[in-house]
Amino acid sequence: MKNAGLDKDSLQMLLDTLGSFGKQKLPASVRLALDDKDEFPLGLIQELLGPEIGLHLLFIPEELGGLGGSAYDVYRVSEEMARLDLGVATAFLAIFLGTDPIVVGSTEEQRKHWLRRIGDEGLIVAYAVTEPLAGSELSAIRTKAERVLEDGELKGYKINGTKQFISNGGFAQLYSVLAATPDGPSFFLVEKGTEGLIPGKHESKHGIRSSNTSPVVFEDVFVPKENLLGGVEGKGLIHAQSVFGFTRLMVAAFGLGGGVAAMLKAIRYARERVQAGSPLSEKQGYMSKLIVPHVVKLEAARAYIEEVARRLDAGEPELQTEGAIAKLFATEEGNAAADASVQALGGYGYTKEYEVEKIRRDVRITTIYEGTSEIMQWTVSRDRWRLHLQERGGFYRRMAESLDDLHRQDGQVGADVAALAVRAVLETTERCRVGRLTRNQHVLFQLGELMTRAEIAANFAQYAAGRGSAKYEPFFAPKTIKVMSRLSAREAALDVLAGAVRLVRGMDAIEDGGMADFERALQASAIHAAAKGLMADLDTAAKAVVEQDAARPQ
Ligand SMILES: Cc1cc2nc3c(=O)[nH]c(=O)nc-3n(C[C@H](O)[C@H](O)[C@H](O)COP(=O)(O)OP(=O)(O)OC[C@H]3O[C@@H](n4cnc5c(N)ncnc54)[C@H](O)[C@@H]3O)c2cc1C
Repeated sequence: MKNAGLDKDSLQMLLDTLGSFGKQKLPASVRLALDDKDEFPLGLIQELLGPEIGLHLLFIPEELGGLGGSAYDVYRVSEEMARLDLGVATAFLAIFLGTDPIVVGSTEEQRKHWLRRIGDEGLIVAYAVTEPLAGSELSAIRTKAERVLEDGELKGYKINGTKQFISNGGFAQLYSVLAATPDGPSFFLVEKGTEGLIPGKHESKHGIRSSNTSPVVFEDVFVPKENLLGGVEGKGLIHAQSVFGFTRLMVAAFGLGGGVAAMLKAIRYARERVQAGSPLSEKQGYMSKLIVPHVVKLEAARAYIEEVARRLDAGEPELQTEGAIAKLFATEEGNAAADASVQALGGYGYTKEYEVEKIRRDVRITTIYEGTSEIMQWTVSRDRWRLHLQERGGFYRRMAESLDDLHRQDGQVGADVAALAVRAVLETTERCRVGRLTRNQHVLFQLGELMTRAEIAANFAQYAAGRGSAKYEPFFAPKTIKVMSRLSAREAALDVLAGAVRLVRGMDAIEDGGMADFERALQASAIHAAAKGLMADLDTAAKAVVEQDAARPQ
């Protein structure tokens, strides 16, 4: 279904409200204290859900009193929240996750009842799916919902089991719970205070310590049959999967926001810190190692997130593969950027006061929850592999041809180099087919990574040339984005080339005499030749990053 979402001014108003909420209520001193004390800021979360801000209304359709936010709106708000504090953002993610099964899977009556209540009352919702023995493998859940009959008529269900790592688990007023019914896994809604629902002890965690994470035990919890979502058993996994495109986009925006927050601190520090007679921001090796590559990847991630949001809002269903690509790339890069920021601040980066070490710990969760990076790699390669077989390579061939066309129109964005990366992925996938390599899980994981790298670079080139979403607001001037796209394409092509050789040769799928042939098919010499101009682009990007920061308010 199409969703135009909020108009530009309303979204900006919401983002501004969040910005001033952050300044007033969550300054660095409060964020650091919450982290230190491992404390969930219940009052602040209630304020975000209260009548003045009503952040949760973004998830509620307009006809039920909400704002009917689009994927684009959710991405922008998620990034803003993540820049502020990923723990607080996680509380908001859990409310979204918990609300989503109602949006996609409930009957009309349930939709009206529950979404109205969540909207009007600002309920804290939790999404209770993971179990001690069922993490990545959702279908392994042991929590059971047995039918309760009276005179042969279904009255409700009795739920027994334990859920693990539930965000908002200790504070939620409403839980969306996945439990196995006789006809398969199904979602149930369980209200706080229901007899037998027992939230467990809050986990002490590595990061996002301002979020609450608890086990939740269900001991003979009775729910009326009206609380079975959709009124039909066995639809739970479909409900969970049908929103992955959307929810993974949200976590991708968290990775982006965490990475951007850390980089902004590093860039500011680099401008102010003088060593060996000049600011660090003037040191070429420093900028081209610790800053520019990360800023480039974050911008490539942003362009991809924008594209997934645009397609979801245009009514394309699910987009699970694209959601996985966005999450894998943006969250891995968010981590890499935060790690580089600690290094960029030297000893100060290692202290609590400068906050980058907190961001680094916080953003770590984004490669784990809502599907781990390894599950994302597997999802991408499984889906693209199927497409490769169905279309005999048509998908990547068309993508490369579209980049050739783009290069003819705009020779400044590295579209020709992105096309080399895409063709190298196509060639590698075909070699894997011929050599029957995808029977190996390692090959699937690696292919997923290479596909992601190439698709991200291909999309960035399109966006840098102005062929992206009309809503796209790059972080940098269009001229700089073009330089960044060239850097992104070069690095993707070089990485795909190295990964392809490592993979195919490493699986002993090529004899000694076949290597030259394979490298020719990968267009290795063209990829190597494309490194020309790399240093000049790194220097230009470094200068632009510093200039932009100088223009940014204190
Ligand atoms: C802070 C926090 C908040 C969370 N919030 C929620 C929440 O609100 N609701 C909720 O339901 N859950 C939540 N989770 C759970 C989270 O989604 C899971 O931790 C995650 O899906 C991974 O599951 P797991 O921890 O059981 O790890 P596992 O699935 O056991 O994975 C362990 C490792 O093995 C890898 N792996 C897994 N399967 C395979 C395979 N088949 N082949 C190869 N490698 C594999 C994984 O990539 C990972 O590296 C939260 C977790 C945390 C830590």
